[in-house]
Amino acid sequence: MQTIPHRSYALISQEQIALNYRSVRAAVGPGVEVLGVVKADAYGHGALEVARVLVAEGARWLAVSSVEEGVNLRTAGINTRILVMAGFLRYEGPAVAEYGLTPAVHSLEDIAAVDELARQSGKPLAYHLKIDSGMGRLGTRAEAAEILAALDRTRHARFEGLMTHFASAADYTSQQTGEQIARFEAIRRELVSAGLRIPYVHMASTNAVGYGRREAWQNLVRAGHALYGYVSPARGEAPPRILEVRPALTWKAKILAVKDLPEGALVGYGGSFRAPRPMRIAVLGAGYADGVFHRLSNRGKVIAAGKLTSILGTVSMDLTTVDISHTTALGPGNEVTLLGREGEVSLDAQQIAKVAGTISYNILCGISGRVKRVYV
Ligand SMILES: *Cc1c(COP(=O)(O)O)cnc(C)c1O
Repeated sequence: MQTIPHRSYALISQEQIALNYRSVRAAVGPGVEVLGVVKADAYGHGALEVARVLVAEGARWLAVSSVEEGVNLRTAGINTRILVMAGFLRYEGPAVAEYGLTPAVHSLEDIAAVDELARQSGKPLAYHLKIDSGMGRLGTRAEAAEILAALDRTRHARFEGLMTHFASAADYTSQQTGEQIARFEAIRRELVSAGLRIPYVHMASTNAVGYGRREAWQNLVRAGHALYGYVSPARGEAPPRILEVRPALTWKAKILAVKDLPEGALVGYGGSFRAPRPMRIAVLGAGYADGVFHRLSNRGKVIAAGKLTSILGTVSMDLTTVDISHTTALGPGNEVTLLGREGEVSLDAQQIAKVAGTISYNILCGISGRVKRVYV
């Protein structure tokens, strides 16, 4: 392999993202559209590169969080439909219209605002209405009758979708998802029986696909985490997973220095690690500014020379020190794996998250802009 002139870099397999996307499509079947969620720079994988993979796979819908993210995809030449899941603020309206983005709207006032935007811009703006079915975050809590009245007042914007989002889709000890589906369905049924046509109805993201909650699929699912190779671990008695996906990202760091420490030597800020015996250590060219969580100090692992080994002392801004007493094979310029696989040994974002006291999404999104993304 060619040498990559970066101290820390992420190898991203476009093929694996394509395979994961196909796996989601196969799981939901031909009657259900799969929207690819590429917000937050595609969970650290690169929004534009991932969008291109999905477009090549035939994706017709992508989703981002903000108008700015949508504009970035459009100006780079992405022509699919783009759902802006966190809606738009007044000052972002002109960009929504100009770049042909599809906002999710979250209140009856938002419906009036999107209608006014469509009137002013003269563009056939479509939007999706999000229902807060019980998560208590974005989405309207209005009753169906109020929604119908608000829709009745619109003249210009086109109501194209009804959506909601689950708070606990992988938690089978909780009734919350069932209750959210029931609440959403009651509203949907009232809207439909009042004669409303709803082209897209969507509730499910990765976990509701991964554990086969078919009643939540409707005619579109929003998959993010699955595209990057993850389904959250379930709580309680979950049905078997129906999604086969694998991590698409491998994260490496170069060794800057190797040295032998005597028994009793301290390592790093605060001297929080003391060598219990003579040890060989490697100092890595990646730290918390790259996304190695500070919480991994004295707890986390990396893979060095094919073996899981420990992070020693505190993680610094640019440096992390690890134990390589098991090998003499590594020296300056060699690499270790912060996330990924070497032979039989692997370390994924869920394992790292568990030790860091967070979730896999946070680990992936935390890999900073300093870490060069390399596509393979
Ligand atoms: C982020 C997000 C998704 C994707 O969720 P995953 O668990 O990554 O599949 C879907 N819908 C909404 C509203 C989101 O914010």
